[in-house]
Amino acid sequence: MLVLMNPKWNGQFSCFDLVARKADRTNDHSRTIVQVRDLEIGGGEFVVMAGPCAVESESQLMQTAEAVAAAGARILRGGAYKPRSSPYSFQGMGVEGLKLLSKAREATGLAIVTEVMSEEEVDVVAEYADIMQVGTRSMENYALLEALGQCGRPVLLKRGLTATLEEWLRSAQVIAMSGNPNVILCERGIRTFETATRNTLDIAAVPVLKTVSHLPVIVDPSHAAGVRSLVPVLARAAVVVGADGLIVEVHPNPDKAMSDGEQSLTFVEFRQMMDDLDPYLELQRPSRQLRPQLLAVGGAD
Ligand code: PEP
Ligand code: MN
Repeated sequence: MLVLMNPKWNGQFSCFDLVARKADRTNDHSRTIVQVRDLEIGGGEFVVMAGPCAVESESQLMQTAEAVAAAGARILRGGAYKPRSSPYSFQGMGVEGLKLLSKAREATGLAIVTEVMSEEEVDVVAEYADIMQVGTRSMENYALLEALGQCGRPVLLKRGLTATLEEWLRSAQVIAMSGNPNVILCERGIRTFETATRNTLDIAAVPVLKTVSHLPVIVDPSHAAGVRSLVPVLARAAVVVGADGLIVEVHPNPDKAMSDGEQSLTFVEFRQMMDDLDPYLELQRPSRQLRPQLLAVGGAD
């Protein structure tokens, strides 16, 4: 469902000319479709990325890759370089983790998305990853964004913890200006006064961004919720507001996870979430013409 362009939004975002939609475009032909191996993100298919918060071991990653692929995910997530809030927490497996991700890709055919934290790591991460993830803490790391302009891989740009849509699109513009138009925006919740959830999922950001920008927009319900019981219902909300996909944390044994276990789904829960999304995805299909059917019923009275 396309939301009408608001003159205020147009004034606010149109300066980011490489990522903003023009106000007079009433159709979707101007959208950016990000090609990742045989997949198109932003082209109508709903693409699910799933996997552990952090790559912990070969068996953890392989089991998870197989389970999420069997449930319909198309891209494997997993951090090899982890931006942890505490310096005492597990910081990731580094290059060994990247190698395991590439092994999982070979075994399952899933594409790989993984985080890159600094410009020094761009080359090594680009060697293994299909999509370069910029985490919430790095959204305004302009040296990193500029380096990603030349990395030859699409970029998944997460929203900064306290970033407005304008600041977020400004970062997307920096990547595009540096030479890389293949940017996917990821709403992952923002910091508000609410404490019942880890972050506050700004669900309205999705339709606003789909109106003011031509970039694909996905949702991360895991980091927004912070608790696994909320993840499926937030995923459903993402489908209904027109997101292009999801990135979801899944772990073989969340209680033993080295990071973000509380918000990670088990394999069974992930499969159930995927099944639950099907009818909502069906409703989003443009070919489904509910209105004429309703009119036909009305006309028979
Ligand atoms: C992650 O995806 O595991 C992560 C650290 O996400 P964010 O940058 O959104 O906190
Ligand atoms: Mn995480």
